[in-house]
Amino acid sequence: MTAKKKGSLAAASALAELPSLPMDAPSLRTAFRHYFAYNLGRDKYCRSVYYLYLALALTVRDRLIERWKNTRYTHLESKCKHSYYLSLEFLMGRTLGNAMLNLGMTDAASIALHELGVILEELSDAEHDAGLGNGGLGRLAACFLDSCATLQLPVMGYGIRYEYGMFRQRIDDGKQVEEPDHWLREGNPWEVARPEYTQRVCYGGRSEFYQTCDGRTAVRWVDTKDVLAVPYDVPIPGYRNGTVNTLRLWKAAATDEFDLGEFNAGSYPESVAAKNAAENITMVLYPNDASENGKELRLRQQYFLASASLQDVLARWKALHKNGFNDFASMNCFQLNDTHPSCAVPELMRLLMDEHGLGWDQAWEITSETMAYTNHTLLPEALEKWPVHLFRQLLPRILDIIFEINARYLREVAHRWPGDHERLRRMSIIEEGETPQVRMAYLAVAASFSVNGVAELHSRLLTEGLFRDFYELWPKKFNNKTNGATPRRWLALCNPRLSSLITDTIGDKWIADLSEVLRLSDHAGDAALRERWHSVKRQNKERLAALVKSECGITLSPDALFDVQVKRIHEYKRQLLNVLHIIHLYDRIKRGDTADWTNRCVLIGGKAAPGYFMAKLIIKLINNVAKVINEDDEIGDLLKVVFFPNYRVSALEVICPGTDLSEQISTAGKEASGTSNMKFMMNGALTIGTLDGANIEILEEVGEENFFRFGLDSAQVENLRKHYDPSGTINGDPDLARVIQLLKSSYFNMFEPGIFDPLINSITSPRDPWVTVADFRSYVDTQQLVSQSYRDKDRWSQMSILNTAHSGKFSTDRTIAEYNNEIWKLKPVQPHPIA
Ligand SMILES: *Cc1c(COP(=O)(O)O)cnc(C)c1O
Repeated sequence: MTAKKKGSLAAASALAELPSLPMDAPSLRTAFRHYFAYNLGRDKYCRSVYYLYLALALTVRDRLIERWKNTRYTHLESKCKHSYYLSLEFLMGRTLGNAMLNLGMTDAASIALHELGVILEELSDAEHDAGLGNGGLGRLAACFLDSCATLQLPVMGYGIRYEYGMFRQRIDDGKQVEEPDHWLREGNPWEVARPEYTQRVCYGGRSEFYQTCDGRTAVRWVDTKDVLAVPYDVPIPGYRNGTVNTLRLWKAAATDEFDLGEFNAGSYPESVAAKNAAENITMVLYPNDASENGKELRLRQQYFLASASLQDVLARWKALHKNGFNDFASMNCFQLNDTHPSCAVPELMRLLMDEHGLGWDQAWEITSETMAYTNHTLLPEALEKWPVHLFRQLLPRILDIIFEINARYLREVAHRWPGDHERLRRMSIIEEGETPQVRMAYLAVAASFSVNGVAELHSRLLTEGLFRDFYELWPKKFNNKTNGATPRRWLALCNPRLSSLITDTIGDKWIADLSEVLRLSDHAGDAALRERWHSVKRQNKERLAALVKSECGITLSPDALFDVQVKRIHEYKRQLLNVLHIIHLYDRIKRGDTADWTNRCVLIGGKAAPGYFMAKLIIKLINNVAKVINEDDEIGDLLKVVFFPNYRVSALEVICPGTDLSEQISTAGKEASGTSNMKFMMNGALTIGTLDGANIEILEEVGEENFFRFGLDSAQVENLRKHYDPSGTINGDPDLARVIQLLKSSYFNMFEPGIFDPLINSITSPRDPWVTVADFRSYVDTQQLVSQSYRDKDRWSQMSILNTAHSGKFSTDRTIAEYNNEIWKLKPVQPHPIA
């Protein structure tokens, strides 16, 4: 980077300087036409709106790129501290609309296209979601990047460029069918390949001791099978501030010599076929949310991300700092998004020692001062463990280092608690047993200077449970960072009608500072505002009803209460409890118990991990129940049930503005935070929720009178387990007994005998970990209160306004400001203005 350039390259500095690109409507129209005709080579016979979308994307991309370059220059010149957000998932969704919003060019683009007879929304809808994540954890990473850029923090995201993202979900005979999501097939205008920054990642082989020229004994990793990591950069614009940060995604590619060896052995086709093995590493996203399954390819992916990203950071550091690694720890920070990238701990040790010649102590000081770890779950099935034998075979040098980290850290434990062998066994990074395993969470905690949970309750439960021993040893490491959602995508972009109304009422400062929405509470008593608020919600419900009509063929009346639960399908999230309530409402209608009825449309959506039998069965049950209810002429508009297929970011952008009631009904103590609860709140939905995750903080912000709380709290759930008696509960509650009877009578599976028995058995078992029926009465009573409340439209609108008004805390701008003030300690950097 500092080397003098020669020849044509010397001209690069001048070549890169161009006059700034105009953003007025006529200029945008000219650029758009140019891209359509010349770059894409389309003409009047074009038959796909996709090319119109691409022409606009390229127009917007140019304007991103000039701000991107300015941001990069300023970061280099200011020699600022950087943070790196390492995540196996970035659930970005669509980019075009968000980029135009953040650059402030939506209106000009809309006008430019309108004059050509082109409708902006149609183009935006042609974009494929970038579904490089499963759910909350991946979407959080995407929201974080938006907030880092908006706060002008020098943060870079590192992830994997999966060829196939989250599978597309189709519903066939009520069952989930997975289809591959080849999202890159038509090209991706939002990435720039940077093969010049390719890294090399090693697998297999063995560790070897050798003498260095200065006489030290050192270790090298030899006989490895290597894979290339090629970076693709994605621009991340801040909100109207000139900053464009970078998300760097790695793609695996075969090395040249990989082929040559085979070629010399005379098996050319085999050698070319072997390229696949290398390229398979980044082929597909693992579709498991909150559960791990020990697959070798998954560990390969995790190490691939960690190794490529750290080598990239170290290479940049070396190029700029001739005097070694003395300042490295004070200038760099790595945030690990769950344990998925936690191979970064031993990998940084390896690179510093084996590649850069540092001793253990200096390498450890750097590693333990730069690594910070975020835990996302307490569910035991989600805690990553890898068999030691797998590590030994795939990453032998990394295993050496993990053993050494463990030995040294256990010495610290033994010193603190002499003779407490039970504790040593408990706290060891290596779990003993028939198949010894590496406990990745313990590795991450032992090496990190900060360990955080993602909501107050979750962070407290971590220190009382999973990390209790570690909390005793290092109390100061542990902290909370309550999650959030970006108000740009989740309000300004997805809900233009409500955004305009908010801006009309309190001005537009809320977009970059969501705490401003509190000013809406001064207007919640204003009858005219309530009326307009109600009318906006109604139009958004019409938009949602139109989407449901086109996706599922079901007609929803916007006069009904829109009751929505969208999230991954998981037993702990208790979609089953929602179904029990639906069946109860159906039963009431059939009994004629419909005095003072509130019409309801219940919409449920979400994907099940392909190998998660119970979750897939829940999807089938929802679809069967929906079919019976929707086809029953006696029911009509009183109750409609929809299973929304292929739930994803772009679907939620239509769903959350049109929702009246947000279902957040997990078993207390199980949902670490939740983030859809926050997105719904911003959009004026009321929550029916348990005292779990961030629901508790939502309730604190908005107040009991504007929140429908129900169910046991986390302490009560734990107490109940000892004497849980679902049969007693069912026998003691006639409504619940009727619901269970309907299920047992095969009412919803007349021609599929017994298929739902596993679900019935699970909720009627005293060992049901999710104590579903324990919360039934409280849930149904609270839903009755919801129905009553909804009948007072004016009061409901007031509560809705107050929910938006008190959602300020749940902006990721607040979350990221806390990460920065307490963990990263970066200074904001303001890029030079555009030429
Ligand atoms: C926000 C979001 C989630 C997280 O939802 P939870 O209800 O918090 O689990 C999952 N998927 C998508 C597409 C999201 O946007």
